[in-house]
Amino acid sequence: MPHDHHDHDHPHALLPPDPALRVKALETLLTAKGLIDPAALDEIIDTYAHKIGPQNGARVVAMAWADDNFRRRLLADATGVCAELGFYGRQGEHVVAVENTDEVHNIVVCTLCSCYPWPLLGMPPGWYKSDAYRARAVREPRAVLADFGMELTEGQAVRVWDSTAEIRYLVLPQRPEGTEGWDVDRLMTCVTRDSMIGTGLARVPA
Ligand code: FE
Repeated sequence: MPHDHHDHDHPHALLPPDPALRVKALETLLTAKGLIDPAALDEIIDTYAHKIGPQNGARVVAMAWADDNFRRRLLADATGVCAELGFYGRQGEHVVAVENTDEVHNIVVCTLCSCYPWPLLGMPPGWYKSDAYRARAVREPRAVLADFGMELTEGQAVRVWDSTAEIRYLVLPQRPEGTEGWDVDRLMTCVTRDSMIGTGLARVPA
């Protein structure tokens, strides 16, 4: 399970290089002591890996594209709007939506560890948790975006949002051309996970 962090005195920098092994060791120990039920743990992991995926976030984005009033409400109070849709819970208690425009491109990182809006995007991808992404997203965001194959337009500023246990960010990507009049379900097909992290753009319809 993911951890929370509440201050900058972060224990994770002290982790040895094989966290998977240590997690397994902890799980074994906690199970042996009767403190956790491995079946319950499997179910939680399965839920986030397969049932809650980026499609929740994609629905929110598509609804914002389709309905300007919803979009304004989302930008003002993403936590409340997402909760109305049933997208809330652990690792997503406070969500802030940030909107990409011609002037600003937003990108999300957790520099301390891997905080991520689970109820909207499911499990964070491996690269999101990598030391390289966490360090470089802040130091050289344009180079990171280039590695993801993204070219920003001239004069487009990059804004980097550092997630915490308290606040998770959802990027509202720009709506692609050629989707005029599309309904929410169809618009959702343009919304990729990476476009909601800011390391990608929404998919342009063929
Ligand atoms: Fe974190």
